Amino acid sequence: MSEVRGGSLFRLGRVVALVSDRTGPGVRDMSYESGERSQVTSNRGWAAATVGAQPDRQVWCRQVHAATVARVREGDVGRADAVPIPGTDALVCDIPGVLCGVLAADCAPVLLAAAEGYAVVHVGWRGLVSGVIDEAIGVLLGVCGRDASEVTALIGPHIGPCCFEVGEEVAEDLAVIAGDAVGRGRGRPHVDLGRVIEVRLAALGVTDVVAPFGCTRCERGRWYSHRRGDSARHALVACLAPHAGGGDRWGGA
Ligand SMILES: [Zn+2]
Repeated sequence: MSEVRGGSLFRLGRVVALVSDRTGPGVRDMSYESGERSQVTSNRGWAAATVGAQPDRQVWCRQVHAATVARVREGDVGRADAVPIPGTDALVCDIPGVLCGVLAADCAPVLLAAAEGYAVVHVGWRGLVSGVIDEAIGVLLGVCGRDASEVTALIGPHIGPCCFEVGEEVAEDLAVIAGDAVGRGRGRPHVDLGRVIEVRLAALGVTDVVAPFGCTRCERGRWYSHRRGDSARHALVACLAPHAGGGDRWGGA
């Protein structure tokens, strides 16, 4: 991981990924639903340049907290403000030079990186219960012809167990996936969302997991938080480089 102004940059083999934060110019709102249009286009252009994608070759989800995964085709690729693929919470891409992005503010943006492609996934509790990680892994492995043990996962910033208070029904649904991720000592249940994601990934064979970020609701200077009342969104974007680069797996991109 290396820090850039307004984000954190990762390189996993050919996959270059950026997690944007609100410290950049214009507070880096990545969502057209909340941000000023030209500013969001500029922010997405900056993200594209940072991961090595062309600014007019982008694909974004229209997230609905479900488990629909789209494999990105050439016809889906367009400008930053092109219509996003409707009803999707994950994109799988093996086309070099294209930016694929997901938005988040408390939910976890997750990258699944393989040698010849990747998935970007928007993961909240609804998506987890619906099986969005299972779906994304399945599509990715089908596209890349790889085994889950060859996939590396990056769990982006999300609401921490300190702040993720849920109702009893949600707690029960998530406890089915990871019983030890649900804490019941302080009134309403608190859930460790990152832990649920890790357990689900491990069950699917993905054990190489990196989760370097803190709580989106607590770290108000760095992240957007839906529960804190923000309408803006940070993003996780990724791009497949045309050729394998040198250097170590976590080398600066
Ligand atoms: Zn917190």
